[in-house]
Amino acid sequence: MTEAERRAALAAIAQEVAVCTRCRLHQTRTRAVPGEGHPETEVIFVGEGPGFNEDRQGRPFVGQAGAKLDALLASVQWRRDEVFITNVVKCRPPENRDPEPDEIAACAPFLTRQLEALDPALVVTLGRFSMARFSPGARIGQVHGTYRPADAGSGAPEALAYAMYHPAAALHQGSLNEALFRDMQGVPAALLEARARRASAATPRALAAAEAPAAAEAQVASEVAGDAPRPNQDPGQALEAEPAPEAEPAPEAEPAPGIAPAAETRPAAQLPLF
Ligand code: URA
Repeated sequence: MTEAERRAALAAIAQEVAVCTRCRLHQTRTRAVPGEGHPETEVIFVGEGPGFNEDRQGRPFVGQAGAKLDALLASVQWRRDEVFITNVVKCRPPENRDPEPDEIAACAPFLTRQLEALDPALVVTLGRFSMARFSPGARIGQVHGTYRPADAGSGAPEALAYAMYHPAAALHQGSLNEALFRDMQGVPAALLEARARRASAATPRALAAAEAPAAAEAQVASEVAGDAPRPNQDPGQALEAEPAPEAEPAPEAEPAPGIAPAAETRPAAQLPLF
């Protein structure tokens, strides 16, 4: 997918989320919260659901938990506009109660489509509801600070899922705050590992294309067409393949709500990995 196609896909999802009535949460929301961030990022952070401030502003993680998430990102020298941030449910559960299974199920296709559009290398799960989608059966007390291949049914079958406590939990418990910042230090290394896995998974396909005629080559070309180094991807680690044919210049897409327009981001930037 080209950057313009990613932007368009994310914008379409955000517009659907804004008017969604698939579950009861739409009756009590002020604004739906689709998510926001860099459309070319390799890293997506997935929380539980909007709280009071998010519901008012229509943006994820802007309250106290958001300040904590910003601090966590800053602790590895990342910024929120270099990653993508969203939630398992896109509308606030009343009184910040846990989302119900049927609400999570109703909202799941939106997250699936966001994952398909972003095709992240790394999904950082914030809290147990998010972890349950990407690492079903895991217990957060045991797996926080570790990663595993994301569940095939999660929507991100080629990603690693890195489990973290929810930033809001750290607001009330000092020990969880320490664990959160410690766990965050492991995220850049998890991204490196995620890149390496994707590169080695892609290499056999590239080799097959070099040996086999047109059909395989076309398949690889379509798979790697978007694989010019993404903004936070080390160009040295980009998949080695025949250059994809020049794409038609895409029409300028209107920036979607919550998706940083290219000019305001650092398309050439790379997430520091130490
Ligand atoms: N908590 C979440 O899980 N998500 C938000 O967006 C804000 C708080």
